[in-house]
Amino acid sequence: MSNDTFPSIRLRRLRKTPALRDLVRENAVTMNDLIYPIFVEEDIEDALPVSSMPGINRIPEKKLAAEIKAIAADGVKAIMMFGVSHKKDATGSDAWNPDGLTARMIKRAKDTAPDMVVMADTCFCEYTDHGHCGVIEHGHVHNDMTLQNLARQSVNSARAGADVIAPSAMMDGQIAAIREGLDEAGFTDTPIMAYSSKFASAFYGPFRAAAGCELKGDRKTYQMDPFNGREALRESMLDEAEGADILMVKPGLPYLDVLARVRENTLLPLAVYQVSGEYAMIKFAAAAGALDEKRIVRETLGGFKRAGADLILTYFARDIGREGF
Ligand SMILES: [Zn+2]
Repeated sequence: MSNDTFPSIRLRRLRKTPALRDLVRENAVTMNDLIYPIFVEEDIEDALPVSSMPGINRIPEKKLAAEIKAIAADGVKAIMMFGVSHKKDATGSDAWNPDGLTARMIKRAKDTAPDMVVMADTCFCEYTDHGHCGVIEHGHVHNDMTLQNLARQSVNSARAGADVIAPSAMMDGQIAAIREGLDEAGFTDTPIMAYSSKFASAFYGPFRAAAGCELKGDRKTYQMDPFNGREALRESMLDEAEGADILMVKPGLPYLDVLARVRENTLLPLAVYQVSGEYAMIKFAAAAGALDEKRIVRETLGGFKRAGADLILTYFARDIGREGF
């Protein structure tokens, strides 16, 4: 029937004016959706610029309160906190020390901005002298020994005031172990955002510099193979079954198919992490005059929304809060 097609159907009718396009736009990104990752280093005096991530600094712990105020003033409503430890050891024990960097920075952030959602990245790679995400036994990261420590770290972070525990170690059973640990310690209402589909990605390169990670070797025995999609779905479904409150896909741009598949298979809120390498690519390309940074950022975040993300972790959150899209 000619009625079902051109010339009676013309999709351009709804693209005629900015107001019409605004009316029929299917997705939106606001500051309510964005989480800003920050790196806090102990025992330094001044902010340390991360050369591979223009505009991003390691924040001195001593200046954290002022920095949190500035971040809040830019309109950021949620942060993900990473510690850059000077007290590294074989197991990353400072992460569950009640007086350690993790606990101190969370407390400081919550005291400074009580309404800000403070998420605690929960892992050991910034706290171990070998840079791996857990306990090493006979040359391998030992899954079940690491689980106990993840539970300890989570309780420590919850006690310090963290609003969300976000385990990123990719150990099997980590969500169940953390849920049990939190519940036993009385933190039944503290949610877990699982880094459920975290790939062994080269896009994390600039982060390692930012977080002061001393990794020797790689993380391929616990993070996922970048070529696997079905397995990402299994990881996500297992984390949901173990009690995760929010699922995540990391990195973002090369894994939009995973995001869309997880979206179709869960009713949980879904997060995506636009990682350091994605940030660096855009920043350096824009600095070289090859791309329009603002429009590229808008388009990438729009892609995450279209694929099914509810929450977006992005190093652009502050810029967006200050300048909009
Ligand atoms: Zn880690």
